[in-house]
Amino acid sequence: MHGIANLSVRELRGVGPKLAGTLADYGVHRVEDLLFHLPLRYQDRTRVTAIAAAREGADVVIEGEVRAADVVFGRRRSLVARIQDGSGTLTLRFFHFSAAQKNNMQTGTRLRCFGQVRRGSSGLEMYHPEYRPVHGENTPVEEALTPIYPTTAGIGQNQWRKLCEQALAHLEREPVNELLPASSEYPYALTRALQFLHAPPPDASLDLLREGKHPAQLRLALEELVAHNLSLHRLRERQQREGAPPLRPDAKLLRAFLDNLPFAPTSAQTRVLAEIATDLARPYPMMRLVQGDVGSGKTLVAAGAALQAIGSGYQVAIMAPTEILAEQHWRTFSQWFEPLGITMEWLSGRSKGNKRAAALARMASGEASLVIGTHALFQDDVVFARLGLVVVDEQHRFGVHQRLSLTKKTAPELGRAHQLVMTATPIPRTLSMVAYADLDCSVIDELPPGRTAVTTVLIDNSRRPEVVARVAAACSEGRQAYWVCTLIEESDALQAQAAQATAEELQLALPQLAIGLIHGRLKPAEKESVMAAFKRGELALLVATTVIEVGVDVPNASLMIVENPERLGLAQLHQLRGRVGRGAQASHCVLLYQTPLSHSGMQRLAVLRESSDGFYIAEKDLELRGPGEVLGTRQTGLMEFRIAELPAHNDLLDEVQVISDTIRQSHPELADPLIQRWTGTGQQFAKV
Ligand code: ADP
Ligand code: MG
Repeated sequence: MHGIANLSVRELRGVGPKLAGTLADYGVHRVEDLLFHLPLRYQDRTRVTAIAAAREGADVVIEGEVRAADVVFGRRRSLVARIQDGSGTLTLRFFHFSAAQKNNMQTGTRLRCFGQVRRGSSGLEMYHPEYRPVHGENTPVEEALTPIYPTTAGIGQNQWRKLCEQALAHLEREPVNELLPASSEYPYALTRALQFLHAPPPDASLDLLREGKHPAQLRLALEELVAHNLSLHRLRERQQREGAPPLRPDAKLLRAFLDNLPFAPTSAQTRVLAEIATDLARPYPMMRLVQGDVGSGKTLVAAGAALQAIGSGYQVAIMAPTEILAEQHWRTFSQWFEPLGITMEWLSGRSKGNKRAAALARMASGEASLVIGTHALFQDDVVFARLGLVVVDEQHRFGVHQRLSLTKKTAPELGRAHQLVMTATPIPRTLSMVAYADLDCSVIDELPPGRTAVTTVLIDNSRRPEVVARVAAACSEGRQAYWVCTLIEESDALQAQAAQATAEELQLALPQLAIGLIHGRLKPAEKESVMAAFKRGELALLVATTVIEVGVDVPNASLMIVENPERLGLAQLHQLRGRVGRGAQASHCVLLYQTPLSHSGMQRLAVLRESSDGFYIAEKDLELRGPGEVLGTRQTGLMEFRIAELPAHNDLLDEVQVISDTIRQSHPELADPLIQRWTGTGQQFAKV
């Protein structure tokens, strides 16, 4: 390769060592990098709008004569100028201004201004417009839509524009390398797409561009998604090369475990167990995602996998995202594994001092076969002698890096531990392809027998007394209920307060009921005793924060009220709802929403009323809210896209898959340049 691909930005006009340094920090080293630094949005400065035709809220260019200008002393001192064209007048307001600016506003001066039109006290106004004096009637306007670039401190929009213009001039002489195979099949050649997006012609549809649906955008989004997919595959290959201890199935141990269970595995559980057993026996790390709706029995599958590792003489770490869930696992596994003589260890953020030191020692020596814990397992001083398997529950809350760092916590000669990732938030196929292309996927698509469907209703908060009466009626028949309080604030303390207040209010309304309260602020022992009392039926109603989302299993509870469900994601609501419908009773979930609720908010909640299919709900959630919300962008290790957007570009994903497969099979030499082009040096994944 030569030319643009290797040409340093230092060769461009106006780029000295300082700017080059800032650009380099931003990942822009070469002229080609500039071409792939794509605008976020556009402004239309290609035509002058008559003042009378300027719409409120629009960004427009106007041109007219200054009729009057003055410094006024209102609430804030400001420079105000009235400007007039043949059609009307408009007021310019500057809250910060210099003497020179004031001088520019001489009566009779002709100004061309660009800014957002607002409605103010004196009719149409612009605050701090960009402006310049013009002479004569026919000063040319911009020839293309004006790109607005993503930027960083130290580089202004004008600088980006000048740099990208120069890069485009190079592009005129020499195209960039097409890296997609058979790229002639795409309606927009790469070079043309880049030219278009850096300088769209005046007739380009701003609406289409805003939606990301212009063919030039689609062409680049396709390539970016392919690059992203390839980089995840690369990550996976790199790990596979490190190797992992092969774990042999231990049929006797598994049988002993299954024979002790009060039920038989479902056929879906059996199938997934077999898939895992095959993976684990291989000499390279399993990377498998198990998706299963709430209550589908993922824990059993994790247990089967753990037995294969323990039976082969290796250690297992099970990590949960919350203390409550980790505790639930602790109880379950104690019950299941202690009869088999398996040594267990606990590690959470609350493990301190000597206890923690002793736990770490037993992990480091290999004495502890199964370790259950929370994020605390990520800490640097946590090491294992012979870690063979890592199980991560509720995957979407941990990042790619976190989960991978855990698999390295073993003696180096063992390579990497196998990893099993379990999630109850079904990840739509489309999304998993870009977010989890590094994982194989198994689905537990069957619930254990005896589950009943949950009827979901939407009731507005003005009917709260009816709902309270319904709780009373259900409890008087010996059923149990949850009342879930939600709060947007992340703070445990505020959530706890809100739940506390609700519990008190309900106790006043329902003095005859035994009401319990559980939230993240309680000590583990307190939580445990509240849960145990609810489980034993001593509490009729449990007021809770969303901490009960995971890890609570009380079959006699058949009614759930969720306050302000509009604040939560559908997937999360679906999980919450999964706490009821676990027994023989017909179960109900009441979504007690706050009015007024927007049409789209109502539409979202209606999805839950209509469906109990976790996958469908997740797809809808994705459609209605976007993947950042569904997965929690920060935590997923999802790459920031430059141009691709999901779900707007969902339609491209099938093609992305095909192209990515073709490249990996027939044109592997294209993978690195593509990854390099779209993800820089790929440093995002270099660490793991
Ligand atoms: P999740 O997939 O939500 O983690 P769990 O593993 O917690 O589900 O299982 C939910 C409940 O179903 C538990 O009480 C568990 O013991 C029970 N369970 C799991 N598998 C079966 C089965 N095959 N038959 C009957 N009950 C089962
Ligand atoms: Mg679970």
